[in-house]
Formats: sequence, structure tokens, C-alpha cells
Amino acid sequence: TSRFEGVPMAPADPILGVSEAFKADTNDLKLNLGVGAYRTEELHPYVLEVVKKAENLMLERGENKEYLPIEGLAAFNKATAELLFGADNPVIKEQRVATVQGLSGTGSLRLAAALIERYFPGAKVLISAPTWGNHKNIFNDARVPWSEYRYYDPKTVGLDFEGMIADIEAAPEGSFVLLHGCAHNPTGIDPTPEQWEKIADVIQEKNLIPFFDVAYQGFASGSLDADASSVRLFAARGMEVLIAQSYSKNLGLYSERIGAMNVVCSSADAAARQSDPLTLVKSQLKRIARPMYSNPPIHGARIVANVVGDPTLFNEWKAEMEMMAGRIKNVRQKLYDSLSSKDKSGKDWSFVLKQIGMFSFTGLNKAQSDNMTDKWHVYMTKDGRISLAGLSLAKCEYLADAIIDSYH
Ligand code: PMP
Repeated sequence: TSRFEGVPMAPADPILGVSEAFKADTNDLKLNLGVGAYRTEELHPYVLEVVKKAENLMLERGENKEYLPIEGLAAFNKATAELLFGADNPVIKEQRVATVQGLSGTGSLRLAAALIERYFPGAKVLISAPTWGNHKNIFNDARVPWSEYRYYDPKTVGLDFEGMIADIEAAPEGSFVLLHGCAHNPTGIDPTPEQWEKIADVIQEKNLIPFFDVAYQGFASGSLDADASSVRLFAARGMEVLIAQSYSKNLGLYSERIGAMNVVCSSADAAARQSDPLTLVKSQLKRIARPMYSNPPIHGARIVANVVGDPTLFNEWKAEMEMMAGRIKNVRQKLYDSLSSKDKSGKDWSFVLKQIGMFSFTGLNKAQSDNMTDKWHVYMTKDGRISLAGLSLAKCEYLADAIIDSYH
């Protein structure tokens, strides 16, 4: 007998479980469009050239493996905040951003969730319906109550903007509103610049706190600045904002677990630093991190700091990001073309082209998604999301056949 007999079986993760099922499939036609990781046209994992160069530099320098401070690598924290806001942004110039290195996007979100749980008791986090599946886990485990705001409209496979605004407007004062900075996961549907302004209006009027999850900066459009424009719009209004960042996708550092939690605080009175909100927030983020994981890993932080800190590498990174974003856009176009030419039902597939980022929300329901997997060996999450980063031009026609068969 075991003392652990009473431990119940945990359900499989809906996203990572897809990869396990894919591995077990022996059919040659199989296609893994579940997890959001970039693949080459040959469907191989990709290590960015700039990452290899930065790693070579690090080896040559023979850097040590001493512990980092709790808040992470200083050069990384500086680089990551500047990348997010732009180095000339007033929030950077006025030193109003508290930045702590986190265990990629997930770990950074988890730090902020713990901060909310401790210092904003009872405050709710509003999340989009639908959202990245792990958001609910993160807030549940941190014991932060959450509710959903309308986001996806199945009729248009587009944004339910009125519903979104109405639900945010109805939120209790002091609630946090979780927003995807760009390339909304899982839908690929982003608000327009005008809609972002309206969202900011409501959040400001209702005294809510914007909380951005930025997992795809530079990876969505190919431009670091364009993909950060939503966050910068809120910061430019002088609002206090929370922003979690991830380098999993844009630098392909998935397993290095590198990201950051940033909190834009109003007022940074240098004379009163001890009671300054920035100092207070940062001290608490560190206090939360210490018993959780003590201090973050150094390797990814050094890669980011080296790439962003060197003008040549920085430009090479931008070119590689454009290349990755470009490949996904090409695949998106080819998938749309294939769907439009093969499907004789008259269905409008233009929503595929309107979406942005690595995902496409196909509008397939659970039963239809099951058909994709069971009959066509296409592995995807059951909400109808497919990762275009795992698709090649060569496989677009096959995928279109599978989608059309599953729809009708
Ligand atoms: N937020 C969103 C919306 C994401 O899509 C992801 C990656 N799938 C993350 C956060 C975090 O990923 P990571 O922990 O690898 O940075």
C-alpha cells in the first residue's frame, strides 16, 4: 500500500496532451497543430541564428553560473522593459517601471497573480472568453477569483466588441482586466487601434487595472513596436499597468523559461524612494519569488541581454522575427486560398486572413475537431484552434480537405 493512494488522477493538459497523442500516432500523414511552437517549412524545430551567436559569445567569455539576484539579471530587466515600451518612453525615462525577471510568461503571470491575491484581496481578474487555457489554472492556483468577458463571436468568427465593452463596463471597481497585447490566443483576433482606445477609455473611466499578457511581441506582425502598441497606448495615458512578457516565441527560447513581470507605477519621487510605489511593488514581487523558486535561471536572460544590447545582433533578430512571422503569414494565405478554392458550399473563409499570429481559430466545434484528429490525423486543441506555426505550405491543401470534410 502507498500513502499516495488517495491522490486522484489529474486530467491531461488540454494543450500539452495533444502532443502526447500525436507522438503515439503512427500514420505518416499526421500533423501536429496543437502546441504553439514555431517550425520550419520542413516542420523541424528552429533555433534562431542570433541565439546561437549569443550563446557562442557567452561561451567565449566563460561566464560563471553564480546565483542571480531574486529580481534577475539587471541587464536583462533593463533591456526587456525598454523593448516593451521603447527606450524613449516617459515611463522608462521617469523610472516608473518595476521589472522582475520571471520564469517565462507563465511564471511572470503567476508572480502577478500572487501579488494580486495578497494586496488586492477579493479583487477579480477579468479574462477573455475564450483565453489561453493556462490563465484559468494560474489564477485558480493563486486563489484569485476571475470571471470572463465576452470576446469571441462565433457568428462572425470575429470580435464581439460590444459584448466585451459591456462586460468590462460592468466589472466591479478595482478589478483587473487581462488583455492579450497582440495575437490573441486562441482566436488570433485582435482589437483595432480604435477599439483599443475605447477599451482604454472604459478601463480608465471605471477605475479598473489593465493587466497585459505579452507573449508574442514581434512575432505577430514582425515588428516589435507594432506589437507593443496596445501596451504603449495604455502607458501613454498615465495609467498604472501590469505586463507579463515572454521570450518563448519571439526568440524561440521556449525551454529556457525567460520572461518578465513589469508594473508601471504612477509617481516615482526619487526623494521618497522608500515609500515609492515602484520600490514597494518590486520588494513584494521579490518576496513572492524567494520561497517559490529563490532566483531565476541565467542562461535565457543573458541571451536576451546580449541580443538586445548589441546593435548587429538586434538587427539580425528583427530580420529573423520578420522571417518567422512572414512564413506564418504565407501559410495563412495558402490555407485560405486552398479552403476558398476547394470548398463549394459558398462559405466565407476570409476570417482566416483577418486573424493574426501563430494561431487560427477555425470555428470547428469539439465533434468536428475530433473528426480532424480521428479521421485526418490532424492534432489540434478541441476548441478548434490550429497552430499555423506547425503547418507547411506543402500541407495546406491536405489541411483544407480535412477542415472542409469536418465542417460539412
Ligand atoms: N500567454 C499566452 C497568451 C501564451 O500564448 C503563452 C504561450 N503559449 C504564454 C502566456 C506563456 O508561455 P511561456 O510560459 O512559455 O512564456
